[in-house]
Amino acid sequence: MADSNSTRKKRYRALHADRVRAAKNKYRREHLEQERARDRRRYAANPSRRRAATTTEMARHREWYAENRDSERDKLRKRRAADIEKTRAQGRRDAKRWRTQHPEKARAFARENFKRRRAVNPHCSRDQGRKWAAAHPEKVRAHGRKSALNRRARTRQAFVESIEPAVVFARDRGICGICLKPVSDRECWHVDHVIPLAKGGQHVYANVQLSHAFCNRSKGAKVA
Ligand SMILES: [Zn+2]
Repeated sequence: MADSNSTRKKRYRALHADRVRAAKNKYRREHLEQERARDRRRYAANPSRRRAATTTEMARHREWYAENRDSERDKLRKRRAADIEKTRAQGRRDAKRWRTQHPEKARAFARENFKRRRAVNPHCSRDQGRKWAAAHPEKVRAHGRKSALNRRARTRQAFVESIEPAVVFARDRGICGICLKPVSDRECWHVDHVIPLAKGGQHVYANVQLSHAFCNRSKGAKVA
């Protein structure tokens, strides 16, 4: 006796579960709006049944996840590690979105965090900062140099990109762009705007060069 259509279909589905699932997913991706509308219609037609179906689905997924937890976690870790920058950026974006959506909660969290850190180490805030600064003078200097530089550009409305003095130093191989002599990273050095901000120069890497503090000062607002 020949199989009925539905029996054949069932057998095909059982044999090619992966293929069927892939086709279904593909169809859904390609007809997303239509599929979502259908979901909504189904839900509206019988909310309690759909909710029950969702609950079953979730329970099944939980069960499946419990069985595959280690390998799933491992997979996730690998995916994240493969593109750590992307993962971090995503995390920052998510956190930011959450903060804008829940400003009250975000503020409360920040307050709680601050209090908790305070409780763990009461000297944390200022003293700690001072100690760190005393131990890392070169970092403090570098940070000050960077923020002063970028701040000046912002006040002059010439700011295009944030400039990292150490990057300019490395790019220019420690050579002063004004006198063309070497600059020691232990002496006071500046990041000079080739076309000064006062003359309409922009705060971009293409318009900056490493310079001795002395050379930079004597140049003033002249175009070298
Ligand atoms: Zn110089």
